[in-house]
Amino acid sequence: MTPPLHFVIVGNGVAGMEAAVALRAREPQAKITVVSEESDHFFSRTALMYVLAGQLRHQDTEPLERDAYARLSLERVRARAVGLDSAGRRLRLSGGQELPYDRLLLACGSRPRPAPWPGAELAGVGHFVTLQDLAWLEAELHGGPSRGGPPPRPDAHLERSAPDSPYQPRPVAARRRGHLARQAVVVGGGLIGIEVVEVMLAAGLRPHFVIREDWFWPMAIDAAEGAWITQRLAGHGVRVHLGRGVAAMEGQDGLVTGLRTDDGALLPADVVVVAIGVVPNTGWLAGAGLDLDPSGGVRVGPDLSTSAPGVFAAGDCAAVPGADGRPRVEQLWYTARDQGRIAARAMLGDPVRYERGLPYNSAKLMDIEYTTVGEVWTGPAPDAAAWEWTLVEEGRVRSSTRICGRGDQVVGFNLLGRRWDHSVLARFIEERRDLSWVVQRLPQAAFDTELVPPLRVPADRLAAARALARPPQG
Ligand SMILES: Cc1cc2nc3c(=O)[nH]c(=O)nc-3n(C[C@H](O)[C@H](O)[C@H](O)COP(=O)(O)OP(=O)(O)OC[C@H]3O[C@@H](n4cnc5c(N)ncnc54)[C@H](O)[C@@H]3O)c2cc1C
Repeated sequence: MTPPLHFVIVGNGVAGMEAAVALRAREPQAKITVVSEESDHFFSRTALMYVLAGQLRHQDTEPLERDAYARLSLERVRARAVGLDSAGRRLRLSGGQELPYDRLLLACGSRPRPAPWPGAELAGVGHFVTLQDLAWLEAELHGGPSRGGPPPRPDAHLERSAPDSPYQPRPVAARRRGHLARQAVVVGGGLIGIEVVEVMLAAGLRPHFVIREDWFWPMAIDAAEGAWITQRLAGHGVRVHLGRGVAAMEGQDGLVTGLRTDDGALLPADVVVVAIGVVPNTGWLAGAGLDLDPSGGVRVGPDLSTSAPGVFAAGDCAAVPGADGRPRVEQLWYTARDQGRIAARAMLGDPVRYERGLPYNSAKLMDIEYTTVGEVWTGPAPDAAAWEWTLVEEGRVRSSTRICGRGDQVVGFNLLGRRWDHSVLARFIEERRDLSWVVQRLPQAAFDTELVPPLRVPADRLAAARALARPPQG
């Protein structure tokens, strides 16, 4: 009788745990080992801000019960993977231990993009991506866990041995300074940056928000939408700096005292959060013989297999082939979840393909709801057949509805201020509907039907939609 396979998974985030659960459902006898440096338990990274804001306890963000490892007979190894011998099928762990495997899944996520400026090593400068970042920022803003929950389990041997790990505990400036942060700067106009700004406001601070671009998140938000978000931020007391870069962090006695912008201004700060994106957390795989793309993502085929036999990758660390065939890292919760499920099936030998389908996302930008579905652009139309239709509401509800299309078909939605069901909007796109048809049926996708008056489309905007639904021929 052949012995059961040994599956090893690096990462107990959503990609790794979805894979572990799917493997166990199919293979009751297999040995499944999950290695994680960051935490004992799987938690929702997307909910970190609610813990920092004191709205949730850390344990409330854990999607699985804490007995999941025991119930599913998953072996848990709390350790840092430091290398891979793909020819010998062995994972190397810190401390010299080696873990042999038959199939390996790399689900090692992202790490913060490092701050490229002098002074980034000062105490009081950090990121907001990992559980250890959460513990650090809770200590800077609140003096400890916001809801009195237990801090992440300290792990002495990891602390000493991994200065370059994103899961290292950070020195807390507030402890050495003797008071909590009173002045704060957040660098980076993206989703993580605005979440941190919001939490700082909730902590009673009036942060500076330094955004290199001309408006917030130009990858996803157009200039008019961005102007509204800036206005809303300013209305809440945030000092927004648009089109301003960073020159350096200033400090004294190893503690940050301020941030110098590239036009020479000094923004005083006890705490600086650098939120300039994330990169695949794959530095430890250098020399493993895997094919990495320039961003560091592990290149995989459509079945999420890597160039090394028996090794697969899923989630934020994987560079998956896009619709155009080019490798692309997708750093989203639901794509990591889907990839984890597909990778498990591929590890079992099923003939599977990962296909993302229509992209979608939703978030809350301060108190402004945001939903995007399909193809949207934020600058000039990408080609001659492309157009966009907008509707701005300024009454009891403030909202912005931007629908993008090509020829006579709607291809995408960028929606702010109201809550929408992305699955209905995706169906409109998949059914190749025209703009006039879609605009008349938008209420079908509305989520806030009880307290919020329905979106009314004035006659002139309806006429414009009809015109775009029938583009001139020739
Ligand atoms: C603050 C914040 C808010 C976000 N909000 C949203 C949102 O609203 N919507 C959305 O779609 N996405 C959001 N994201 C992104 C989303 O959280 C990620 O795309 C998703 O968590 C990726 O899951 P993953 O399983 O690939 O990796 P991760 O969740 O990053 O898990 C990585 C795992 O790998 C382990 N690991 C890594 N390296 C090693 C090593 N060398 N040795 C041992 N273990 C290792 C870690 O311990 C961890 O368990 C947000 C991210 C952040 C940081």
